[in-house]
Amino acid sequence: MKLIFFDNSQDAGGDMVDNDKNLWVKCPNCDYMMYKSDFEENLGVCINCDHHFRIGALKRLELIADKGSFKEQFGNIVSSDPLEFFDGKEYYRDKIKKTMEEKKLNEAVVTGRCEIYGIPVEIAIMDFEFFGGSMGSVVGEKVTRAVEYATKHKLPLVIFSASGGARMHEGILSLMQMAKTSAAIREYKESGGFYISVLTDPTTGGVTASFAMLGDVIISEPKALIGFAGPRVIEQTIREKLPQGFQRAEFVRDHGFVDIVVHRRDLKNILYKLISIIYNKV
Ligand SMILES: [Zn+2]
Repeated sequence: MKLIFFDNSQDAGGDMVDNDKNLWVKCPNCDYMMYKSDFEENLGVCINCDHHFRIGALKRLELIADKGSFKEQFGNIVSSDPLEFFDGKEYYRDKIKKTMEEKKLNEAVVTGRCEIYGIPVEIAIMDFEFFGGSMGSVVGEKVTRAVEYATKHKLPLVIFSASGGARMHEGILSLMQMAKTSAAIREYKESGGFYISVLTDPTTGGVTASFAMLGDVIISEPKALIGFAGPRVIEQTIREKLPQGFQRAEFVRDHGFVDIVVHRRDLKNILYKLISIIYNKV
């Protein structure tokens, strides 16, 4: 499986600057230069300051699922172009096709069944590189089906979110996914399921406003951006200066929206511990 790290140098959240034929990585937080091999060995976290870079869904899967245990589900659902959306340069359907080829992903979420230290789990992992992790009909449908599968088979559910919000190319259809995924999670919980939501940088918009915030336990990676609207929009609306660290994982945790902030290297262990307590596997 290919390692995928994001080049998101346009974003404030975390950068990967790839210099000198991919040998070096520069940390955007502390400017430290490190060997790419050291950086990858450290799971995409700066070895000097612990800055968590964004990572793709496939890389995340490698870090969380037991080797060889992942069986992809619902991977054949792909976007159509119901609104025939044209952005002035190209049609949405062409853009989707191009992105699928470029990113080697079918959509902004990968769903399936895997094992975490031997415990079977239903998992969904979003990928910010695919249309900014935006939720269109396919993301909504895949997440919903994963939740329904977990309900039917009485599996613990883990969803990793990374999203810029709704997929504007799909208009209202995109917004409807918020209700659909939330309803599925409600049924899952009523059937006795245990859902862990893991927020990664960034989790915003319609994903925050639906399944990402519905976890029985909500975990976040350090300093991840978590919010609904962006800080500039909020500042302009309420005409107030926002406090330092607003919408970062630690701030959001201190204000009660996130339960724990967990370092990437500890994530798999924490997931295992939580699931084994609830499912009496210890
Ligand atoms: Zn650093």
